[in-house]
Amino acid sequence: MISEWARQAIDILDGERRQIGVTPLREFPLPAGWGVRLLMKDESARPGGLKHRLACALFHDAIVAGRIAEGTTVVEAAGGAMATAQAHVARLLGLPYVAVMPRKSSGADVERLGGTCRYVDPPLAIYDEARDLAERIGGHYVDHYTAAATVEWRGASLADELFGQVGACPRWVVVGAGTGATSAAVGRHLRGNGLPGRLAVADSENSAYFPGWAYGAADYATGMPSRIEGIGRPRMEPAFSADVVDLVVPVPDAASVAAARRVREATGLAVGPATGANLWAALEIVTRVRAEGVGGDVVTVIGDAGPRHLRTCHDDVWARDRGLDWSPHAARLARVLDGDASW
Ligand SMILES: *Cc1c(COP(=O)(O)O)cnc(C)c1O
Repeated sequence: MISEWARQAIDILDGERRQIGVTPLREFPLPAGWGVRLLMKDESARPGGLKHRLACALFHDAIVAGRIAEGTTVVEAAGGAMATAQAHVARLLGLPYVAVMPRKSSGADVERLGGTCRYVDPPLAIYDEARDLAERIGGHYVDHYTAAATVEWRGASLADELFGQVGACPRWVVVGAGTGATSAAVGRHLRGNGLPGRLAVADSENSAYFPGWAYGAADYATGMPSRIEGIGRPRMEPAFSADVVDLVVPVPDAASVAAARRVREATGLAVGPATGANLWAALEIVTRVRAEGVGGDVVTVIGDAGPRHLRTCHDDVWARDRGLDWSPHAARLARVLDGDASW
């Protein structure tokens, strides 16, 4: 028996899903005659972008399990789009929300949504701090890296929407991996339905996903943080399913920056750097599909976009401060997309 509050909360989440509806597929322009379409599923209109799907599903699961009830303070260790998405959902449900984030992150979006930020140093201390805080105040620690492994999408994952939208099954789907939940949903959809499409994961520098997948080592860890917000992890996370991933494409961080700028030129959206990684990896895949000579669609994702990213990958000073020299990668993209060079 769930409470009246829980029933109403679930209705609110369902209403939110109906209101947002199906996110659009945009075509990224490729040179004429390539015989391949590059489509980008545009999640940028959702609050927190792609992270909004996972945030809604995790809140739903915790409500059904009785871990979030009326008045429960929800606590999470996250900055960036994940914290924004959760703050949005907490506000919809009238729940107090606290994001514990590294000192150098910006909590402006969380605060605008009525949430509270706690800044912690060193960055890796956010997890213990969030867990302790939730315990002290009797709140719920979301712990999305762990909870994502058992998330119930209830037909609302990116995969559930995507395949109906494209028509014929795409030759490849290319996504990034943070928790790994999105790639797992796509991979399981492909394999579970016996579809011919394959799954590639775009991975950032320092991430454990490429070596862990390549060596078949589920416990691989680099211990190094990713510079590309939202993707790349210091260890293989429990929601990442290496066995449904056909290929992991390592993308240089500076190339992600160059490609994010290219997505902005094509769409007008100030996308985050993880979207750049997606475009870079997708173009590498497009090259493979062209070589096979059979045509078809390659589908990837616009993960998030917003004015915040005008101060990240679209800002020359931000890139220079991080030693990300994106200009050679931008030049390569220009040559390839002008049809003057192959990948
Ligand atoms: C955050 C993000 C991801 C990570 O999604 P998970 O389901 O947590 O693995 C992937 N791609 C983009 C573009 C993102 O912004």
